Amino acid sequence: LPKTIPHPLNIAVAGTGYVGLVSGVCMAHRGHHVTCVDVDVKKVTMMQQGISPIYEQDLEELMYLNKERITYTTDYKSAYKNAEAIFIGVGTPEQPDGSADLSYIATVARQIAETVEKDCLVVVKSTVPVGTNDKVEQFIKDFLPRDGENDILGKHKQIKIEVASNPEFLAQGTAVRDTLEAPRIIIGTNSKTAEETLKKIYEPFGLPIVSVSRRSAEMVKYASNDFLALKISYMNDIANLCELVGADIQDVSVGMGFDSRIGSKFLNAGIGYGGSCFPKDTKALEYLAKQNGYELRTVKAAIDVNKDQKIVLYKKARKRLITFNGLKVAVLGLAFKPGTDDLREAPSLENVPLLLEQGADVYAYDPVGVDNFKKRFPETMTESLGRHGKGSIRYVESPEEALEGANVCFIFTEWGEVKDVKPEEYVRLMRTPLVYDGRNIYCVEDMKKVGVEYYSIGRKQSV
Ligand code: NAD
Repeated sequence: LPKTIPHPLNIAVAGTGYVGLVSGVCMAHRGHHVTCVDVDVKKVTMMQQGISPIYEQDLEELMYLNKERITYTTDYKSAYKNAEAIFIGVGTPEQPDGSADLSYIATVARQIAETVEKDCLVVVKSTVPVGTNDKVEQFIKDFLPRDGENDILGKHKQIKIEVASNPEFLAQGTAVRDTLEAPRIIIGTNSKTAEETLKKIYEPFGLPIVSVSRRSAEMVKYASNDFLALKISYMNDIANLCELVGADIQDVSVGMGFDSRIGSKFLNAGIGYGGSCFPKDTKALEYLAKQNGYELRTVKAAIDVNKDQKIVLYKKARKRLITFNGLKVAVLGLAFKPGTDDLREAPSLENVPLLLEQGADVYAYDPVGVDNFKKRFPETMTESLGRHGKGSIRYVESPEEALEGANVCFIFTEWGEVKDVKPEEYVRLMRTPLVYDGRNIYCVEDMKKVGVEYYSIGRKQSV
């Protein structure tokens, strides 16, 4: 519940995406005064009305509970002018060469330099390549107005702006909980003042703080994300081999997970990782290594395995069927994982165009991802579908509706609503109960018992 804290700070947050908005709202929840800034007028208007522009559990409730301490605005000048700390949470998307696009960060840095009127700490929360914090600090210094220029009081010159790194580790779908109950908070600073300010901000969270240098903090983020991506690709690689040699990846992962050196999490095989982080952060680190004359072979392997893994089921199905042309294909799950409406790098985005190209009539279900998917694959515009091939796509309200009369079903996201579909429902509803499950949500024996022809990842097939 809202509380009063010894050192409430005036904090501005640039960017109200998954990271910015959740961080801002959680800092307000812990007693700080927060102004959330975004360039997207539509988003800001929604937030001003108490509506979260992204889907995250508990987020709207916390926005409501802390409404006295949060302001949402597009007016960055008023937000940054007197802030004691400015968090940057804008995107750092992948560029065609794999490097991180830092242009959004640069824009915010410039806006900060041109507006601040007193000393403040700039905290980079976005995921940025090692060395970026140094550049941001220099960039801000370069853009601070000089005496007399654009500044009636002529005082900008004396303003001290420090930059600190505070990478974010939240996962979409559990972002609020991950922030309020984070196993650790990484702060990367190059000065005592910056370290103390960040400690003041995070003290009310009551969580372990790991204080390191800025460059190390930047690296902790990439090294952690890429390690998780590696873990996934490793399990997927082993899963593919399991299929060939008659082992079961689920039994294998249970066996492995008992070893505390390995840990039981992130050992699930599937159709590859997606989302806005693992794909781009693996490529960005590989790029950084290359730039420094080093080849990061492990991370490169994780990227390669993931690329193939996303369409492993599509390839299997193509072998089994003569064609997808004219077949009704049920697609269960579009989001890259349950609990989010985010589609970035989701396996569905690789598979649906392939199915459409092959002439399939896709009936897609997702509890929250449909609106975003529709933007890329509109339901009614046959012209635009033409670009993706000769198939068609329709969005439905339930897994059952997608399965009705279907020739084949693909499961791409393990939503609760999908897991709730009983094995016998596939037999009852589909024209032919042929199921390709990219998330291993069913027991092979259960599917076999009711007569579903069932293919999954790293396990034997049901027929
Ligand atoms: P996002 O795309 O959801 O949100 C970015 C927001 O910044 C958008 O709302 C955009 O309108 C806004 N913006 C752009 N320019 C702006 C400006 N000049 N001023 C104010 N707002 C501006 O991004 P995200 O998923 O929250 O990711 C942000 C960063 O955090 C990335 O570097 C990402 O790698 C990192 N990260 C993301 C996650 C995650 O799960 N999404 C987790 C950890 C770290």
